[in-house]
Amino acid sequence: MLNGNGILFDVSLCVGCGSCAQACKEVNNLPETNKDFLKDHLSDNTFTVVEQYGDLYARKLCMHCNEPACESVCLVGAIKKTETGAVVYDADKCIGCRYCMQACPHKIPRYEWGTTKPRIRKCVLCNDRVNAGKLPGCVEACPTEATLYGSIEKLIAIANRRLKEDPDKYYQKIYGLEDVGGSHVLVISPVPFEQLGYVSMLPKEPMPEFTNRAMEKIPSVVVVGGAFLSGMYWLTKRKNQLAKEKKSNNGNL
Ligand code: SF4
Ligand code: SF4
Ligand code: SF4
Repeated sequence: MLNGNGILFDVSLCVGCGSCAQACKEVNNLPETNKDFLKDHLSDNTFTVVEQYGDLYARKLCMHCNEPACESVCLVGAIKKTETGAVVYDADKCIGCRYCMQACPHKIPRYEWGTTKPRIRKCVLCNDRVNAGKLPGCVEACPTEATLYGSIEKLIAIANRRLKEDPDKYYQKIYGLEDVGGSHVLVISPVPFEQLGYVSMLPKEPMPEFTNRAMEKIPSVVVVGGAFLSGMYWLTKRKNQLAKEKKSNNGNL
């Protein structure tokens, strides 16, 4: 059962202007990564992209899964599904194991390889803006309402109505509604989703079900080894953090 808020992206209304990608950069203080936004890729500095497929344009971003695989594999609870629908990330809890990147069925999370304090990076559905009563940056910037934000119930009703009222215009499926247990980003389109680069043939079952089964098959030595390495990483990170705090406190005396 999907509750909370989400995004509905209608491929048929997208004119490929890139305002959403530009706005995402602005609200998240991200640097320019490609002069031609249509050639940009998801990265630690790009949380959403607009891709061109002939006359059509498709947005890619975190799907904000209802039962996120990324959350289910995170050993320390750094990734959380919130009541608003957003799947958010806490860099202070993250131990850098990157299991979330492996687990995501949509291949979304990216890692800050180039920094000394790397974080997992992805769209967080502008959770802070939403909690402050604002719209997500990409939604506010879209001039054609190709990207809508609101109650997921209403978005599903809008999508169903469009599919029903114009069956020749739309491929008869809402991408994300049932895939891997449903998500808070939904897409409707004139063509099948695999033609737009969306991950297709996903099971209806939430991915954590698969993850748990897969984890059961991993020899315990691997899990223990992974946990040990993760623990060492966390301890080193914590030690550095404490040393830094100590230095800055001394500086304040
Ligand atoms: S799309 Fe991937 S990163 Fe986003 S919530 Fe789902 S599993 Fe997590
Ligand atoms: S919801 Fe916010 S973080 Fe996500 S793609 Fe839109 S602007 Fe970027
Ligand atoms: S702002 Fe709207 S119309 Fe422009 S590329 Fe993004 S989704 Fe498409």
